[in-house]
Amino acid sequence: MPAHIIFQCPACQSRQMAIPEPESAAVRCQQCTWRRDEGGQDFRDGNVCRCRICGCEDLWRQKDFPPALGLAMVATAATLSCIAWAWYQPITAIVILMVAALVDMLLYTVMGDMLVCYRCAARHRRSAMDEQHPHFDLEVSERYHQQAIQQNRGTGK
Ligand SMILES: [Zn+2]
Ligand SMILES: [Zn+2]
Repeated sequence: MPAHIIFQCPACQSRQMAIPEPESAAVRCQQCTWRRDEGGQDFRDGNVCRCRICGCEDLWRQKDFPPALGLAMVATAATLSCIAWAWYQPITAIVILMVAALVDMLLYTVMGDMLVCYRCAARHRRSAMDEQHPHFDLEVSERYHQQAIQQNRGTGK
């Protein structure tokens, strides 16, 4: 899967996925005429530094790994491990847990990171990013939340 962006179209509000080719090419909506062609400034040293949808410079880095999957795996391993215990197989029980932890760790490493926009929540998956890119910050998130509320008040919504 190449780099792609999952976003809500700012014009028609529909859920979209864009796969710009090359990565810095224009992002467009398939439902309406919305497009944004500022790829030249959205990248710094080949890494995404701005939201490709709204141009916001605050993006947070998140593991591209569905938490539900991790949870399901842990739950399954725990159940199997309990069954092994019940059958007086303590070694098997421990091995099950260890294998589950290992698979979890491997998946976590392999899945890579994605960048999420604080303002419009667009997700930039498989994009090139700075190794040092900051993780989620509640304070920044709160700032954007407040801004959105004020903007809604301004437009009388
Ligand atoms: Zn649209
Ligand atoms: Zn954005």
